[in-house]
Amino acid sequence: MKLIIHRGAHKVGGSCVEISCGGSTILVDIGLPLDFDSDESIESCLPQSLFHTLRQGGKLIDGVLLSHPHLDHYGLAGQLPAAIPVYCGKASWDLMNATAHFSPNKVPLPNVEHFEAWQEFQIGKFTITPYLMDHSAFDSYGFLISADGKNISWGRAAVTGQYDSDWFQKRAQFWGYNDVFGGKKKVIGITCGQSQETLHRWAGLAFHA
Ligand SMILES: [Zn+2]
Repeated sequence: MKLIIHRGAHKVGGSCVEISCGGSTILVDIGLPLDFDSDESIESCLPQSLFHTLRQGGKLIDGVLLSHPHLDHYGLAGQLPAAIPVYCGKASWDLMNATAHFSPNKVPLPNVEHFEAWQEFQIGKFTITPYLMDHSAFDSYGFLISADGKNISWGRAAVTGQYDSDWFQKRAQFWGYNDVFGGKKKVIGITCGQSQETLHRWAGLAFHA
């Protein structure tokens, strides 16, 4: 698997991660930066190298996963070519539509598919399991993304946490991560750009940049 962090490695918000494997490519989130100023054009805050390649026809994206209905995770999805399927929770989609009037990006997403919590689905070579998570946005998900015998988890500290911490064990039982993370799989965790200090505070993580 190949991972490109287009944005979000050194700051919170505006997240966009590309994962590819064996000819399949997905994006996980495509967010509007939190410091976006409404006087700016949307165009100026696109992840430039990604969009340049897409517009040149140099890259095919098989699907875009949206983790939750906060603009810093989905706010640029409407800028993608309409043919690219977007996957999100049904309630997330309802919230995005209900709040579209207040969004700087009012472009609709015509090609949307809904996933269900804990129901595995496939995008090309990737098997994806959405995990319902606690966050300040309703209908938030972490993802377990598997391909070619490797596993990546995307999500907040609840999924990237050190499994043997008490905090994580309790969280894992509550949200049902145990089935997947109970020592059965080796998982590489990525999370949106929280500081290492924050991660340590949340979960007592043994975290390495
Ligand atoms: Zn959020």
